[in-house]
Amino acid sequence: MRVVSLGSGSSGNALLVEAGPQGRTKLLVDAGLSVKTMMKRLGQISIELSQIRGVLVTHEHSDHVSALPTLIKAYATPIITDPRTYHAIDASVRAGSWRSDTGRLVATQSVELDTLPVEELPIGEKRLIGDIEVVSFATSHDAVAPCGYLLKAGGWRICIVTDTGHVTAAMLEVMQHADLLILEANHDKERLLRGPYPWHLKKRILSETGHLSNEQAAEAILRIWRSDGMRWLWLAHLSRTNNTPELALYSVREYLLTAGANLARCQIAALPPDMGQMWDSTRLW
Ligand SMILES: [Zn+2]
Ligand SMILES: [Zn+2]
Repeated sequence: MRVVSLGSGSSGNALLVEAGPQGRTKLLVDAGLSVKTMMKRLGQISIELSQIRGVLVTHEHSDHVSALPTLIKAYATPIITDPRTYHAIDASVRAGSWRSDTGRLVATQSVELDTLPVEELPIGEKRLIGDIEVVSFATSHDAVAPCGYLLKAGGWRICIVTDTGHVTAAMLEVMQHADLLILEANHDKERLLRGPYPWHLKKRILSETGHLSNEQAAEAILRIWRSDGMRWLWLAHLSRTNNTPELALYSVREYLLTAGANLARCQIAALPPDMGQMWDSTRLW
C-alpha cells in the first residue's frame, strides 16, 4: 500500500492511496488542487490521472473538490461520497460556485457536464473498491455531511481526519486502529486569536464545526496512544496564516512528551501545501 500527499492545507488538498498487485487500485482522497498541479505531482511518482479509480470526497468545500469538474470531463472519474455531499457538489457545479472553507463563494471551472458520475457511500458504510476496503465516518465541520475515511489493504490501515472542529468518541474509536494516521493540526490557538482574521472567522475556526488546533490534535492522539499503536502520524491541513510545520510538530510532540508518551516508535511529520510525504508499506523494512 502506498500513500502520497499531493498537497495539504487551506490552499488545496489531495491524497493518493494505492494498493493491490502493482498498485492497481488508485484512489484520491479529495481533489482540491488544480488538475494541472495534480497531473504534475502524480507524474513525479509515475502515475497518470486516467489511472485514478475514483475520488473519495470528505466534504464539499472548494479546497477539497475544486478539480472535480475538469477531472470528470477529462476522465469520467467517479465521485465516491455520501449522497448529501454529492448533491451539494452537483448543486455547486450547476450554480457555478463552490463554497470555500472560509464561507466565501468561489467560481467553479466552467465545464459543460450533464451528470456527475457517482458511487454513493453513505457515512458509516463500508465498501470494497478494487483492492481497498473503505469505511467512512462522520466528522464535525460546517459542511452538509463531512466525513473521514479508514482505508484498509494488505493488512494495513490508513485513517484520514481533516476539517473537524472536535474529535468525538466515535472518531477516536476508528482512529485508534490506524497504522498511519493523517490528522488535522490546523492552527495554533494563540496565533489564530492574535492573527489578522476577522472575529467571525476566528470564532468559526474555533467552533465545534471548525478546525482542530495543534493542541486539540495532540489531545486526540494522546487519547488513542498505545505503546504498540500507530507508527506514523502526519499532521495535515495546516493553516498558512495561523501555523507552521515547525510549530505544529513542536506543539504535538511537546504535548505528548509532557504526558509521558514514548515517541521512539512513532514517526511524526507535518504535511506541506505542496508535494509531501510518501508512505510505502513495501519499503518499510
Ligand atoms: Zn479544508
Ligand atoms: Zn472545510
